[in-house]
Amino acid sequence: MKPAPFRYAAPASLEEALALKAEHGDEAKFLAGGQSLVPAMNFRLAQPAVLIDLNGLDALAYVKAEGGTVRIGAMTRYHTLQRDKTIGSKVALMAEALPEVAHPAIRNRGTLGGNLSHADPASELPAVVLALGGTLHARSKKGARAITAKDFFVGVLTTALANDELLAEIELPVFPPRSGTCFLEVARRKGDYAMMGVACAVTLDAGGACSDVHLAYCNAGETPVAAPKAAQALKGQRLDDKTARDAAEMAKGEIRPFGNVHASVDYQRHLAGVLTRRALIAAYGRARA
Ligand SMILES: Cc1cc2nc3c(=O)[nH]c(=O)nc-3n(C[C@H](O)[C@H](O)[C@H](O)COP(=O)(O)OP(=O)(O)OC[C@H]3O[C@@H](n4cnc5c(N)ncnc54)[C@H](O)[C@@H]3O)c2cc1C
Repeated sequence: MKPAPFRYAAPASLEEALALKAEHGDEAKFLAGGQSLVPAMNFRLAQPAVLIDLNGLDALAYVKAEGGTVRIGAMTRYHTLQRDKTIGSKVALMAEALPEVAHPAIRNRGTLGGNLSHADPASELPAVVLALGGTLHARSKKGARAITAKDFFVGVLTTALANDELLAEIELPVFPPRSGTCFLEVARRKGDYAMMGVACAVTLDAGGACSDVHLAYCNAGETPVAAPKAAQALKGQRLDDKTARDAAEMAKGEIRPFGNVHASVDYQRHLAGVLTRRALIAAYGRARA
């Protein structure tokens, strides 16, 4: 298949890209890694009149550690993130999830900004950014605004970005000492989208009990889905097999999977329970270490 005709624009600056988007609105789409957009165009599921190529905007590709946060430019590719020492040491949850995203060829091109803007609920990184409590920084010709990960993902392939906005930067908090994280998923084959995946972060108090817990799931609803009740129930508790099992049961009730040709809703819930228990135990062990 070939895409429908479109006008191609290669802006030389962020300002030029934002001006083009302001001019063309819904008729225009940004091209990042192209790993979701180009197949959609080839199948004519997406038919933008104007394609605004962000690949010349090197200023949108970076990883910076600043104070208690890590800032990632939207055009930073998976491949770069996977090899970045700051991500490995300060955002271990993302480092653990990245090898599960697609295949090396796709990770060479795909970008964090494209991934989050595409907002596929089965995708790993939206769940990671939700579990980490990330903030997404949008830019438009009119200015800038910050959107929490919780508010950014609105529905299947739908975000809170307005039709003149670009996702410019992703800001992730660095968790305090005595924190541990774990990402686990089950996919039919390595590189496939997960049938179910969990991103988990645990912080302990000085006595070794959980002071903060975050759980977020991919392929568990129309957006990445958090399990705040299960996380809250663990606060003040030491994690053992029983408390992890109880939390996993609770989380199974909080997610909203809708099943697909590879996994029924019941099977997805079952996977969520098993993965939650394992991820909590692993994250707790890492926090203690
Ligand atoms: C065979 C295959 C397997 C895959 N498996 C997985 C998988 O297991 N897990 C997974 O998560 N993904 C998977 N993907 C998708 C892949 O991760 C894509 O790279 C990603 O979803 C989109 O990132 P991109 O940079 O390629 O964005 P693009 O495809 O270029 O863009 C995606 C969408 O986001 C918009 N966009 C891009 N950048 C911005 C921005 N900065 N601001 C606003 N809008 C923007 C575009 O206009 C478009 O609508 C797979 C893809 C393929 C082809």
